[in-house]
Amino acid sequence: MKNKIIDGTKISQKIYQDIKTEAYLLNKKHAITPCLVAVLVGDNPASHVYVRMKEKRAKELGFISKKIFLDSTITTQKLLDVIAQLNNDNSVHGILVQLPLPNHIDSFKVIESINPKKDVDCFHPQNIGKLLIGEKQNFYPCTPFGVIKLLEYSNIETTGKNIVILGRSNIVGKPMFALLSQQGRFADATVTLCHSKTKNIKEFTQKADIIIAAVGKANFLTEDMVKDDVVIIDVGINRVNDFTQERGYSLVGDVDFKNIFHKAALMTPVPGGVGPMTIAILMQNTLRAAKLLAYDTLL
Ligand code: NAP
Repeated sequence: MKNKIIDGTKISQKIYQDIKTEAYLLNKKHAITPCLVAVLVGDNPASHVYVRMKEKRAKELGFISKKIFLDSTITTQKLLDVIAQLNNDNSVHGILVQLPLPNHIDSFKVIESINPKKDVDCFHPQNIGKLLIGEKQNFYPCTPFGVIKLLEYSNIETTGKNIVILGRSNIVGKPMFALLSQQGRFADATVTLCHSKTKNIKEFTQKADIIIAAVGKANFLTEDMVKDDVVIIDVGINRVNDFTQERGYSLVGDVDFKNIFHKAALMTPVPGGVGPMTIAILMQNTLRAAKLLAYDTLL
């Protein structure tokens, strides 16, 4: 039987191989080691887990990885001061402010204050604006570009395809839309962006050749909502109670994987699909940020 699983872990390993080679050459030629600084505000447990995962990967690649922990009561201004210091520090190449920030902090102001050349998450309005108008740029947003790489490495053509994206967040849905609606290979699609106010989502998903789910609800996409031979990319990460696990929960995506599997042509699993790709692209962006210091422009 044809293998229907798109293995994000395996594909991310290929990306890491290229990163290692390029990082080695950068160090040899310019004595630069990529340095990623993560800024964490407060003690959101999930944020700490994500930052630890990123740090572990950065270290495995031989990057310098630093963390700055700030109290949840910090003011926006104090946080802006921390970022200004990192912007001015030439030994820091990538700055990552782990979201979400506490409610009293002006997240937009914080993101806007990051030097776009160090914006390895690609959240800065300048970088996102370039993405929308199809301008070449230094960084691409980690999760959406990770999805594009999954499609590319799996030889899933998107030209002329009907692609439905479920979810319109600034982190996933909207940049995903921007990437897939550009001209070019692994783009050139007819893209529909659905959200909580979309009426009768099923009408859209049933016609989709490719569905990208980023809603944040376990089992949101069900068997009756998809056509035969659909390709499904599941971005969702949801905790569901699972007392067979020591920790009392398992992680699942937004897709009813078990019941859709027989219908789909290809699917990503959760975990092991989009998640590893998000981190791989973050590392690729960090390497690019370090290269920017050596070459000023990569375009
Ligand atoms: P988000 O900011 O909460 O956005 C969720 C989106 O889903 C919103 O646009 C919302 O619509 C839409 N939505 C919610 N309920 C809906 C419904 N019943 N019908 C249709 N649309 C609905 O979430 P996010 O940050 O994009 O993340 C989405 C999921 O991906 C989460 O599970 C998150 O953990 C996961 N994630 C995974 C990765 C990874 O690396 N694998 C990275 C980022 C996020 P409205 O805009 O109308 O409210």
